[in-house]
Amino acid sequence: MTDHTLQTRLLHNDYKFDPATGGVSVPVQHASTYHQSFDEPTKYDYSRSGNPTREALENTIAQLENGTHGFAFASGMAAISTSLMLLSQGDHILISEDVYGGTFRMTHDVLHRFGIQHTFVDMTDLNAVATAIQPNTKVLYIETPSNPLLNITDIQAVVKLAKANDCLTFVDNTFMTPALQRPLDLGADLVLHSATKFIAGHSDVVAGLAVTNNEKLGEQLGFLQNAFGSILGPHDCWLVLRGLKTLHCRLEQSQKTAEKVATFLSRHPAVQNVYFPGFSTHPGHPTHRYQCDGPGAVLSFQLKDEEAVRTFTKRVEVPVFAVSLGAVETILSYPKAMSHASIPKGEREKRGITDGLLRLSVGLEHPEDLLKDFQQALKSLQPQHLFLDGRVRSEVR
Ligand SMILES: *Cc1c(COP(=O)(O)O)cnc(C)c1O
Repeated sequence: MTDHTLQTRLLHNDYKFDPATGGVSVPVQHASTYHQSFDEPTKYDYSRSGNPTREALENTIAQLENGTHGFAFASGMAAISTSLMLLSQGDHILISEDVYGGTFRMTHDVLHRFGIQHTFVDMTDLNAVATAIQPNTKVLYIETPSNPLLNITDIQAVVKLAKANDCLTFVDNTFMTPALQRPLDLGADLVLHSATKFIAGHSDVVAGLAVTNNEKLGEQLGFLQNAFGSILGPHDCWLVLRGLKTLHCRLEQSQKTAEKVATFLSRHPAVQNVYFPGFSTHPGHPTHRYQCDGPGAVLSFQLKDEEAVRTFTKRVEVPVFAVSLGAVETILSYPKAMSHASIPKGEREKRGITDGLLRLSVGLEHPEDLLKDFQQALKSLQPQHLFLDGRVRSEVR
């Protein structure tokens, strides 16, 4: 099966049908414990340590990421937090400065208490990365594209620095999924996912995944998964497996529409900057094209100020106004008040997360319906919310 493309392997893999019945959907095994034989060892004994439905998901994601060991967790944060438990007291981790808020909180407010040190660094600046590596640095932690400004980190270049310094590279691949980016192929040691987003894709399950191709790391992570116990339940595993089947076609459709929406927004006088890795003017575009199979379906754009954002979000009808991304429905979020609310204003604005910034995760609606909706909502803005001639505008930043 491995010579098939990923699009086909999403459907035709080791779990194509249930060998016991021929059923073409993985059975949901709810049992928490298993009847054992007194003399013979049994494959399963207790569901925290092993469950057939979870195993199906874990093996499937491992194969899709070209890894050898997959793990399913109760949330993306459970996958990330458990993986960070690979570190010990006195270790140091180098982490993207625009990392997901929950990962920021885990390193800054939790690991810190256990004597695990961290430095936030601009991962797009390789000199800064090289300079920040310390003798006790064990992990370089990347997110690319980053959130919400879609900055691109060169995975292979960071891996090279990591290997030269005896460090591991972890990549949060939530925005791209294995359909568009496979970090293990680029030398990374561990791939992490919030499967809540594109992988499951239907806004109906919270889940996390981790994959490695390193035997030792796989063993250690398996031990930690069982020790920590933040496993994904069998029914949620099944929901993620079902979502995975349509991953490729959902992303194909959504990113095509995202390109149209991004282009439309970049030409509108009420929009200042559109951040989208698909634009050739995006500073990370060449790297992104090299390491990914598509731009993805997330973009951000800037309106004049909070008042413009208020008017626009009240007028717009199609998108859901919510946190999260990667769903069948288009989701509009306001980073200032949602994902990045805990960052002080000065720090936030320094990073480009202004009061006018909106993030859009494009879903499966007809592109024309979205464009018409955006057109009418932007039309309701006051003249003072337009960027008039002579203004500095670009399609990038
Ligand atoms: C949502 C998200 C997470 C956290 O995942 P949960 O499933 O919400 O715990 C981690 N990383 C990124 C990039 C995310 O978007």
